[in-house]
This record gives sequence, C-alpha cells and structure tokens, in this order.
Amino acid sequence: MIVIMKHGASEQEIRVVAHALREQGLKADISLGDNHAVIGAVGDVSVLDVDKLSMLGGVERVMKVSEPYKRANRKFHPQDTVIRARGLEIGGKKLCVMAGPCSVEDAEQISGIARAVRESGASVLRGGAYKPRTSPYAFQGLEKEGLELLARAREQTGMPVVTEITDTRHVEMFEMTVDVLQIGARNMQNFQLLKEVGATRKPILLKRGLSNTIEEWLMSAEYIMSRGNPNVILCERGIRTFETFTRNTLDLSAVVAVKSLCHLPVVVDPSHATGRSWMVEKLACAAIAAGADGLIVEVHNDPPNARSDGPQSLTPGQFDQFMQKARGFAALMDREL
Ligand code: PEP
Ligand code: MN
Repeated sequence: MIVIMKHGASEQEIRVVAHALREQGLKADISLGDNHAVIGAVGDVSVLDVDKLSMLGGVERVMKVSEPYKRANRKFHPQDTVIRARGLEIGGKKLCVMAGPCSVEDAEQISGIARAVRESGASVLRGGAYKPRTSPYAFQGLEKEGLELLARAREQTGMPVVTEITDTRHVEMFEMTVDVLQIGARNMQNFQLLKEVGATRKPILLKRGLSNTIEEWLMSAEYIMSRGNPNVILCERGIRTFETFTRNTLDLSAVVAVKSLCHLPVVVDPSHATGRSWMVEKLACAAIAAGADGLIVEVHNDPPNARSDGPQSLTPGQFDQFMQKARGFAALMDREL
C-alpha cells in the first residue's frame, strides 16, 4: 500500500500519516520526491482502514501495490535511486563502468589491469577472489589473498573494488575489505546469503540468476532491502535459453522493464552474457540505449592464458577502444561516461 501526499503537504502531515501506519504495526518508508512525498506501508496492510487514512491532512490518495516487491518497487520510490560507494555515485547521469579480470591471479596482474582500466576511464575495479566454478577441478580463486591483492590495487589506484561473496561466513571479512559486494548469478536465490548482506549497509551488486524471472530477481533485491540495506544495484548478465552460440542470452528487455518497475540502478554485463570478447562492445552500446546505468566488462592482460573466462575478456588496449566508442554512444543518450 502506498500513500501519495498532495503537492506541498507539510512535514507534519507526512509525520502524522507515517505514525498512523506504524500504529497499525506497519513499516513506513518515506520517499520525498520533487512533486510529492510517497509513503510506502510494508506489512499486513489488511488491517488498514483506507477510508480513514485517505481523510488525513495532506493525503492525495491511497493506492494498493499488487506486486510482491515493495521496497524495490518504483511506486514506493518514484525517483531513481543513486548509490554511493567510496564517494562514487552509481545510478546518476554518469554511467559507471566496472572493469577488471574475471579472477584475481597475482599482484602484478591485478595492479597492472587496475591502472590500465582506470586510465581508460573505468571507475570501479572488479576481480573475483572466491570463484563459483562449474567444475570443482577448475581454478577456485585466490580467496583471502585475492581480497588482499584487490585492497592493494585500490590503494594504488584509488578505485573502489567489487568482488563476489559466496559464503555467509565471509560477510564480516568482505565488509572490512570490499566496497561493493557481488552476489553472483548462481547465488541470486541463496536467501540466507541475501539476508546476511542485507544486514550490512554495503552496496550490493545483485546479478540476475541464470534462469530467473524479473519478478524473482526483484524479490531477491527485496530480501536485501527488507533487512535494512537499501543499497542494491541490479545486474543483467544474460539468461539461459535454447541458444548455444552465445554463453547466455542478454535480456535487454529486462533492463527496460526493470527501470520502469523498480528505482534501483541497473548495470549490464555483456562479458558473461555473450562469452565472446568481440561481441562485448556492440552489446554494451545496446545496453546504454536500453537505459542501463553502468557496465561490467572483463579485462585481462593475457586472455589466452587467463585462469578463467579468457574468451570473453578484452585486452587493456581493446578496453581503451571500447571506452571511446561507449563514451560517444553515452553522449547520444544524454549520459556521461
Ligand atoms: C563473475 O562476475 O565473474 C561471475 C561469475 O558472474 P556470474 O555470476 O554472472 O556468472
Ligand atoms: Mn567471469
């Protein structure tokens, strides 16, 4: 249920409505927009007397929200949410580019790539330390040492870092060393992990699951937000279809849909979506056209010898060219990059 306040409703009127909701045992989320304030009620709204609520001062109308996601719902929060990570804004006019290797491999590799991608204009450094691999025999990541190397690359470049968390026991360690916690596609519905990261206030990059619907994805965001962490960034990274030419099928219609249903920033990962480095640039431009707020691109200094995801990784030189192309495209869409 949401209560839409009249244009110019006073702070006191807003407080009275929020209080009336809380008195009924509901949570009241206040969102102050340019035109009017919206107060979202979360909980058992069947107890509400809508007629009585509608008569309170400053109330324009009371609306039922039929979707199961509430805090993630744009009806609750009509303006775009901008998330801050180490002074960086994600979700504003400037597109956020997160770039780096699939896996952190050694100190020289991660620091070298970090410097190169920063030079080309990336604003966040990505790199996996705990890798969720299909095969138990494949490289599993440098784990704790990988986190330390990421922290060192951050010190050297000033770039915030994003890396994937796979285990609830690691939350505290990640909170201390990482700027943005990534929930990978395979863990999108690991509800215990969602609850645990929801108890932090760190920005969470929530990747869409391999075979999950838009609604399931938004419900996973709701899990994190319902625990008190509003800092969720959604990431479309391709879904599983009958097509096998590409690693996954990039669902750009989901970007358009989610931007309309939800107020959270959406970034697109054309690297995991295609699995092919030569397709990354075109799909990144298409993602910008679809309204994405950022991109995640895998970059490796030696793709043929990468310990994971070499075929989809750009070299630093290719990434530089990519950024120039994407920058021009962003300008066409009235965005900066
Ligand atoms: C990754 O970002 O390296 C990764 C494993 O991504 P996804 O969870 O989208 O497969
Ligand atoms: Mn990868």
